Amino acid sequence: MSYVSVEKPNILLLAGGVGGAKMAEGLAAIEGITLSILGNIADDQIFHGLWVSPDIDTLTYSLSGLVNRDQGWGLANEGSRALDMLKQLGNDTWMFLGDRDFGLHIHRSNRLKQGYSRSQITSEIAHALGIGTPLILPTDDVVQTRLKTKDGWILFQDYFVRQKCAPEVLDIHFEGADQAHPTSKALKAISEADLIIIAPSNPILSIAPILSIPGIRDALTASKATILALSPLIGGKPVKGPADKVMKAMGLEASATGIARYYRDLIDQIVIDHQDQASKAEIEAMGLVCSLDDILMCTRQDKIRLAHALLANHAAFNGFSCPEAAQ
Ligand code: GDP
Repeated sequence: MSYVSVEKPNILLLAGGVGGAKMAEGLAAIEGITLSILGNIADDQIFHGLWVSPDIDTLTYSLSGLVNRDQGWGLANEGSRALDMLKQLGNDTWMFLGDRDFGLHIHRSNRLKQGYSRSQITSEIAHALGIGTPLILPTDDVVQTRLKTKDGWILFQDYFVRQKCAPEVLDIHFEGADQAHPTSKALKAISEADLIIIAPSNPILSIAPILSIPGIRDALTASKATILALSPLIGGKPVKGPADKVMKAMGLEASATGIARYYRDLIDQIVIDHQDQASKAEIEAMGLVCSLDDILMCTRQDKIRLAHALLANHAAFNGFSCPEAAQ
């Protein structure tokens, strides 16, 4: 990929877990851009005394090529002997953590005890696993998503994994966000970006927590970059997970139009699926540029093709050419 007017454009991806990691992999495969990723830390939770950061770990395992491709998270060729022992000792083991995965959580928790920040630890893990793309955290403070159900407030993993997204969600709160400080790396990456892409991640549970950190939304609004979102819904349905359910619970329309409306104050462009062509006119009436594409990413080629298409779109929109984008 080579750009005529912008030499090595800075691309920043806002990403959650599985949907975010797919887009991250596609973009990371493209030469001639400088990619950074701003991830979500609000799904973090302590298990067996260890600090587990599922979305950041999904990005880490995906970009290092260690990911279990069948499920899109965790490591390939994992064992469960550590978890089996924990179960035998009477612990709750509804959160699957594989043996090698445990190694990473032990390392992170140990480094936290030694006084390193979450950002430093994330970077050193990424470096050790051969990831060249900076993985940036929105904050080094603890921010955790809590969901209100009829039985009270529960942490994200209790809702997502233990209760399999079954309870009706009455409210959502990002605990600790009000007092959190953005990392300087996050603010710098936003201010230096030429193009900011919001991955097709869950808008309410993966992207909103990033935006809830004081200073992040303002930095995005002030940024000179074009901001482009990719819809996580195709034909009104998520590819995976509870995005439609949670959007409806929050009073939003679960559709490509609903996604555009949710992000409209932040973004310039949105890419939606060909299946959602009927939403295009309504989205354009909001003052957004709306493009249609095949936005389901099943294979590595799908991810790279879509990443090329997003960059080509942006290049065309900004009046410079991107000759290899059609590859
Ligand atoms: P989580 O934190 O692991 O749930 O991951 P994310 O929030 O990053 O991703 C979940 C979202 O990704 C869901 O709403 C899915 O609909 C969306 N998603 C997953 N795969 C794809 C895909 O191939 N294409 C698109 N457009 N969205 C996807």
